[in-house]
Amino acid sequence: MAIGLEKVRNIGIFAHIDAGKTTTSERILYYTGKKHKIWEVHDGAAEMDWMEQEQERGITITSAATTAFWKWYHINIIDTPWHVDFTVEVERALRVLDGWVAVFDASQWVEPQSETVWRQAERYDVPRFAFVNKMDKIGADFFMSLESIQNRLSDKAMAIQISRGAADQYTGIIDLLKMKWFIFEGDKGENITEHEIPADLLETAEAYREEMLDKLSMFDDELAELFMEWEAVSEEIIKRAIRKGVVSLELFPVMLGTALKNSGVQFVLDAVVDYLPSPLDVENTKGIHPDTGEDEFRKPSEDAPVSALAFKIATDPFVGKLTFVRIYSGIIKSGDNIINSITGQKERVGRLLLMHSNKREEIKEIWAGHICAFLGLKNTKTGNTLCDPKHPIVLESMDFPEPVINMAIEPKTKKDSEKMGIGLSKLGEEDPSFRYYTDEESGQTIIAGMGELHLEIIVDRLLREQKVEVNVGAPQVAYRETIKGTASAEGKFVRQSGGRGQYGHCFIRLEKTELESEFSNDVVGGTIPREFIPAIEKGVKETTEKGILAGFPIINVKASVYDGSYHDVDSSEIAFKVAAFKAYVEAFKKASPVLLEPIMDVEVTAPEDYVGDVMGDISSRRGRIEWQEQRDKATVIKAKVPLSEMFGYSTVIRSLSQGRANYTMQFSMYDEVPSSIAAEIMKERAGSGAIKEVEA
Ligand code: GDP
Repeated sequence: MAIGLEKVRNIGIFAHIDAGKTTTSERILYYTGKKHKIWEVHDGAAEMDWMEQEQERGITITSAATTAFWKWYHINIIDTPWHVDFTVEVERALRVLDGWVAVFDASQWVEPQSETVWRQAERYDVPRFAFVNKMDKIGADFFMSLESIQNRLSDKAMAIQISRGAADQYTGIIDLLKMKWFIFEGDKGENITEHEIPADLLETAEAYREEMLDKLSMFDDELAELFMEWEAVSEEIIKRAIRKGVVSLELFPVMLGTALKNSGVQFVLDAVVDYLPSPLDVENTKGIHPDTGEDEFRKPSEDAPVSALAFKIATDPFVGKLTFVRIYSGIIKSGDNIINSITGQKERVGRLLLMHSNKREEIKEIWAGHICAFLGLKNTKTGNTLCDPKHPIVLESMDFPEPVINMAIEPKTKKDSEKMGIGLSKLGEEDPSFRYYTDEESGQTIIAGMGELHLEIIVDRLLREQKVEVNVGAPQVAYRETIKGTASAEGKFVRQSGGRGQYGHCFIRLEKTELESEFSNDVVGGTIPREFIPAIEKGVKETTEKGILAGFPIINVKASVYDGSYHDVDSSEIAFKVAAFKAYVEAFKKASPVLLEPIMDVEVTAPEDYVGDVMGDISSRRGRIEWQEQRDKATVIKAKVPLSEMFGYSTVIRSLSQGRANYTMQFSMYDEVPSSIAAEIMKERAGSGAIKEVEA
């Protein structure tokens, strides 16, 4: 039977490294009854961390979903990546989440990494609340943490609990709604006992409650009235007001506890249920019709036509390929035929699995608002929409950012070489922003992605998941070549040395186009017989792939063959191909050729004090500042910067701002490389590309 949608929560947990995300997740799984033993993180048994390297690097890359139950609510916890180089993965994970829990360390001020994740969540409008963890730790101070969250992150942060003591004096939580003191007892904090607020804290508690009610009167008229009249406000009304504030992103409640010492996590679960949105609180899902391009909307209802988004593909060692899917509308049953509206291909739904922390549960059907893993999908990639064949919808456009950085990799041993292909193809399926190919000229395998770290992680995953060892080259910017003008040239390839000779001769005109590249046959009167045109096209295509100035692919050029001549006996396909090469290269040289470089949209978020330094640094990187705006406690600076100037930027920005500024970066467009820099690149890469073959 379907659980009412109002009883579903799709949430993520975020924290800076070491704040206690893993421990808190573990406790959540324990208390939700799906776990029978409390595993400590240092035993290395943390189940939410799917990949070893996450623990080593301290960053989360996967987004597996775990299902848990709390008080008849169905909570799907999405393990959420947040690193800047993973914009595609981050966006996918954020897209399927309805709410966040932010974990902080009570012994620290808000740390730069917490600031980073917080600002990212801000970009995506995800309702959230804060859990100040580690109240048992030396130096822990709830009031300091609260203040630091309010000062550094947001004025919308508001305590709904306060602590009784801290560090070794920590003895539980004062709940400002109930105005009671709660102590967590028993081995695992499972016995929660309620007490009157100790006299020494009563005044503080009353002051914080007053402040809370004052803030909440903004969200609920009834509460406002009662508060003004000095009348008692019930817990129900307070909860209702908090929920309104949270769902509308106007309020971030702050809670506390210690996951390690088993205090407060059950209240976090209560808050997930009470305050974070259900799929019903989120607006109708918007998509487009794949044929007409018109807007389509889907209600989060079982009666609506099926629509679902694949947000993560993972290879499970036990069951094989899992496709994690969020259902936005309708019901999907095992055995159903649905379509992938991006590829147009049919998919048959095999088995449906709910992934609990310690087991997989096979289910027969899955409803709108829920998340589960599909087994047996053949042609579905991350980001694809699955839907009712009669009511097609695309939930997300498929503009994957262009890979802008390349790196050569080479298997260490023959055995690795066999496994490398399989490994790369698996990674490509999971991560659509990653590509790989063989460089024809060098025979090397090239991996391409969105940033330095992206490629580093790919190499790491090859090693850990696929057990493939590779050597890597230096990362290279993916430059392109193009022309600014129009030009024509003649190409001739003639050999007559006894026996059968070679004869190919053509004229090619080059001009700009919006398209990647184009070829047109404008030959009239049979000056070149039709059978040789494909050879000319092939010559043109190979030249554009190889490049001319510095061996980078040529884009936005239309090549038209419009004249030529042939020889009855000596003409051959190969001769025309070479002639086309020559004509193309000559015309290209005359048509004001230029190098293009990827320009990135860079968005830096920095506290006020660092804005000047950040802007100065961007300018020194040939960057153009486009705009800046105030977002809560930070300034957001948007700029366009050439990728070649962004190597190592994460280190630079950290040291510029004492770790407090952060950035995201995405491909924007190709633009001309300034001539002095272009000259250097060409010098370095002299002799690469098609020109080498023409001159040979
Ligand atoms: P993550 O990096 O955010 O996933 O953090 P972990 O959950 O792995 O925790 C990092 C370290 O902090 C581990 O050594 C935990 O045992 C410890 N830790 C987590 N929660 C608490 C807590 O409430 N109190 C104390 N004292 N330590 C904690």
